[in-house]
Amino acid sequence: MLWITCPTCGERPVSEFRFGGELPHVPDSIIDADAHNLDWVWMQNNVDGITTERWFHVAGCRRWLTLRRDTSTDRVV
Ligand SMILES: [Zn+2]
Repeated sequence: MLWITCPTCGERPVSEFRFGGELPHVPDSIIDADAHNLDWVWMQNNVDGITTERWFHVAGCRRWLTLRRDTSTDRVV
């Protein structure tokens, strides 16, 4: 089971959280505002490895947190 350390509540099981998606990285080469927003919302990298994600602690403090997770091992790094 995946355990996530919440900065407010401490280490909790993943069942207390809701996945908020990977934190997008828009390439610097995209300078048009509309293209930037389009890339931010729709272009997920779906990395097989370490990625930065947002999680919401729905059964705890009800705050968002950002963590880095290795998707190939399903472990927080
Ligand atoms: Zn919490």
